[in-house]
Amino acid sequence: MAGRTHDLGAFTALTYTVATQPLHEMTLATAIVAFLANMVGGLAPDIDQPTGNLWNRVRGGRLVSRLVTPLLGGHRFISHSLLGILLFGFVVSKLLDTVSSVLLVDMNIVWWAFMIGFVSHLMLDTLSREGVPWLFPIPIRIGIPPFRFLRIKTGGIVEKSFAFPMLLIANIYMYYIHYPKFMDFLRHYIK
Ligand SMILES: [Zn+2]
Repeated sequence: MAGRTHDLGAFTALTYTVATQPLHEMTLATAIVAFLANMVGGLAPDIDQPTGNLWNRVRGGRLVSRLVTPLLGGHRFISHSLLGILLFGFVVSKLLDTVSSVLLVDMNIVWWAFMIGFVSHLMLDTLSREGVPWLFPIPIRIGIPPFRFLRIKTGGIVEKSFAFPMLLIANIYMYYIHYPKFMDFLRHYIK
């Protein structure tokens, strides 16, 4: 899937979480950092791809990507699996621990926002032609629906004209249905 779809997918997963889970009080700084972490999480699995959107968004990223991507085994390997979820979850929690003393931010919330974005990426990629090696290192790519030709071509017309709009509609629907909860969250939970 394209970066834009993953951004929206991560945001949709975050919207769903706020809509369905108990609300937590947080500072405005925490809310902003969590939002950014969600976007980064939504693109992070594609760091195994030199043309990944995350790399294009950082200065010098393309150069670093040439060094990092071979280590991750090429596109859609370990970072697109359950093992990858554990690995990234662990590394990111350690990273957040290191910086948490500097920033007045609830790193627990930030970590969850990152992971929600990360998992949403794998779920979206599961709908694409290439599928996802969820059980890495077992070399099976899993896709939904099971027939490859029924799945979405990355960057293709179905992604642009169906998957992306469906995600938009899902967001609008959730904001509409859970409007009081979202307002409550904005008014009373962000300090
Ligand atoms: Zn991907």
